Amino acid sequence: MKFPLPQIVKSLFPELIWKMPAGGNALYFTFDDGPCPQVTPWVLDELDKYDAKATFFCIGKNAELYPELVELIKTRGHSVGNHTYSHTKGWAKRTGEYVEDIELANSFLNSTLFRPPYGRITKHQIKRLSARYHIIMWDIISRDYSSVVSPRKCIREVMPHVREGSVIVFHDSLKASRNLFYALPRILESVHKQGYKCRAIDL
Ligand SMILES: [Zn+2]
Repeated sequence: MKFPLPQIVKSLFPELIWKMPAGGNALYFTFDDGPCPQVTPWVLDELDKYDAKATFFCIGKNAELYPELVELIKTRGHSVGNHTYSHTKGWAKRTGEYVEDIELANSFLNSTLFRPPYGRITKHQIKRLSARYHIIMWDIISRDYSSVVSPRKCIREVMPHVREGSVIVFHDSLKASRNLFYALPRILESVHKQGYKCRAIDL
């Protein structure tokens, strides 16, 4: 099994969103951990080349530092989601503390979309958060953040798995930039040639 953790989590928590409904050849690119001045504007320009829309799960701390980038993401037609204030791991936090961190992030993000950092979230936290947020997981992860994944490998982590409704994870972070700068333009070009439309998650 390639990604044992999400598979197990998937069966335990069917209320989480792993994939969007198929239809209209839509794909859902998502970018976590930004905004980041060295990476986010570049991502926006790459997306514009194909009139592609995406969803940016921002860390609240970064949104507080760079509010103009959050505004730029929105004005360019993309969605913004909440990825906690301090990139908190749900399994390591009491629900109250975790929700507080997310609420603090939302004062800078004002979103109804949430993605848990590391995909680590407890059943109790899901219960509390799903009253207010759509919790968006993924079905494809590029592993662009990994120093042991090459830029080419990053493309192979994505392309063979793409299907209508796929939710694909990238990162607009410095850590991921080595892989992202190589892989994203090539992946965008390939999915465009295959007739897919990249859409923002808008729930
Ligand atoms: Zn993250």
